Amino acid sequence: MKEIRTRIAPSPTGMMHLGTARTAIYCWAVARHLGGKFLLRIEDTDQKRSTQEATQVILDSMKWLNLDYDEGPVYQMDRLDRYREIVDQMLADGRAYKCYATPEELDAMREAQRAAGLKPRYDGRWRPENCVGKPIPEGVTPVIRFRNPDDGDVTWNDAVYGRITISNRELDDLIIMRDGIPTYNFAVVVDDWDMKVSHVIRGADHINNTPRQINLYNALGAEVPVFAHLPLINGPDGQKLSKRHGSVSVMEYEAQGFLPEAVFNYLARLGWGHGNMEKFTREELAEVFELRGCSKAAARLDFKKFEWLNAQYMKEADDERLAKLVAPRIEKRGGVLEGGPCLKGVCNLLKTRAATLEILADQALFFYKPLERDPEAVRAALTEENRKALEAFKAEIEKLDDFTAPNIYGAIKAVMEAQGIKIGPIATPLRVLVCNVDKTPQIDRTLELFGKSVVLDRIASGLAMVA
Ligand code: GLU
Repeated sequence: MKEIRTRIAPSPTGMMHLGTARTAIYCWAVARHLGGKFLLRIEDTDQKRSTQEATQVILDSMKWLNLDYDEGPVYQMDRLDRYREIVDQMLADGRAYKCYATPEELDAMREAQRAAGLKPRYDGRWRPENCVGKPIPEGVTPVIRFRNPDDGDVTWNDAVYGRITISNRELDDLIIMRDGIPTYNFAVVVDDWDMKVSHVIRGADHINNTPRQINLYNALGAEVPVFAHLPLINGPDGQKLSKRHGSVSVMEYEAQGFLPEAVFNYLARLGWGHGNMEKFTREELAEVFELRGCSKAAARLDFKKFEWLNAQYMKEADDERLAKLVAPRIEKRGGVLEGGPCLKGVCNLLKTRAATLEILADQALFFYKPLERDPEAVRAALTEENRKALEAFKAEIEKLDDFTAPNIYGAIKAVMEAQGIKIGPIATPLRVLVCNVDKTPQIDRTLELFGKSVVLDRIASGLAMVA
């Protein structure tokens, strides 16, 4: 049986957006499901718009999403000799020809076609039979055009959209090379052919290119791969996804504190379904993924669901891993980790209530922020009743050998009973004096993380402020 080979072929001309990431996930899943290979190709022939930074973002995004590829990255700009070799062969046997039409001339041609109520289309004026005896204009560098078949239809059985047929009368003679650089439609065919790609899976925005590419495959005598086009991803309002909807680039989700497995899961589920599978790992996806599970309708982003899913993964995440991921985010907020409470423990305490790493960092900051007190807040927290409760609590915990949450809770309970009060008069001044905030998670667990000596010091120095 023929080997299954898929590829993701992004152009490094901007960020790697969610749509490309989702396509990459499906390409990866097809390859993994069928025991094939998944390839990465960087389509960098647009020299004006391609950048090194964008290439790096692609590589980073692939790594972040754990989309391991078996071959590549292959860079198209490293393959110029190959494209030129094929163009030379095509020129030699008439499958391609040189076109000397200037941009002005082509504009005028289109204008005239429009005026005559026709669809603008290259008229074949430099096809060899149409320019016999015509002088070659001076100073014009020709482009190379593919001689598209004049008649007949191009048909393919799209793995998502089903049968699609386009008449060759709709297609004109495509430019395949300009100044020695291949155009997208040509390079993509040569590459997919050379790389033995069996399934071309890409965004539906490429459907119009596919019949042109099939004609090129046929002209090259190459086997035509399976094509699968994926509907676009829209914003929550059903409009084409754009910056105004918020983040559309994969790595922005990393910056916003999403976990890669949540982004992977969310994107995979967006436009593909299998029974009632909602939350799944990459291995589970690879196990069941088939292109026929892809929807033909455009997907709609739902940021609430996205965040909800991330929160589920946060809850399950290993504390040590969370600590590593959240540490730089706390430092960026002015927190000092060294000598502070165990970050792993802090993550364990907060992860069930933080939907993202950024929220976790916000919530964890008070553990690490150098203590700068607001004397007013301290004074307000130390009413007579609170002060009395706090002093009794201090005496209780001084006796503790094991400064654990249950023991701390025991101390709180003892003061509540002895003074006939609720938890408020103890917890409120503790929050302000020890944590320097007015809201914290469970106070016993919070204090345990600060540790006995910090808690005692902060109570003492806080009490001393209000004599
Ligand atoms: N470079 C194209 C893009 O980024 C790839 C299209 C394809 O997969 O054929 O849209």
